[in-house]
Amino acid sequence: MKTTPCVGCGYCCVKVTCTAGIEKFGVNKKPCQGLIWNDKDGRHWCKLGIGNDQAAHFYRNYLHMGAGCSSTLFNDWRTNIRDRTKSVSQPTSVISPIPPIMQVFLKCLAKQFVSPDVLYNTLVDFKREMSRTEIGEEKYEQIELEIKRCFDQNRQSFMKEFF
Ligand code: SF4
Ligand code: SF4
Repeated sequence: MKTTPCVGCGYCCVKVTCTAGIEKFGVNKKPCQGLIWNDKDGRHWCKLGIGNDQAAHFYRNYLHMGAGCSSTLFNDWRTNIRDRTKSVSQPTSVISPIPPIMQVFLKCLAKQFVSPDVLYNTLVDFKREMSRTEIGEEKYEQIELEIKRCFDQNRQSFMKEFF
């Protein structure tokens, strides 16, 4: 499958802290404290994946670093890459739009064989149901992004090839 390369714009990590970020840093700050800006490279990196030790290898694999961009839709940051770590570093009470117990459930679900069609149809239906609630579009997009990311991080390797 053709993928769009990650250019380090930081959009995905600023919008939603991934489960690794929540587990590792456990802070109510946005963006994730793992996100760092590198002037020399002119892009962001996740500090969990930097280095040659076992932990860095683990996180590079776990977070699919180098596998392409996970958030291309409606993302104009890709063409306006600049340091996003300071401008939005205000403390916030929300680090993930999904409650921790549901994150664990999603993690377990993502390990099962769920076809792209089922996932797609579920998200379409979910969006339709959400549009009938008070939850705004921006919040919905954050939830959808986190669901996709959870599936991406937890599905089995044979399923990644299938996807
Ligand atoms: S990938 Fe790294 S920087 Fe991005 S949200 Fe996860 S832990 Fe934070
Ligand atoms: S939104 Fe895409 S290009 Fe930007 S940091 Fe995330 S994966 Fe990389």
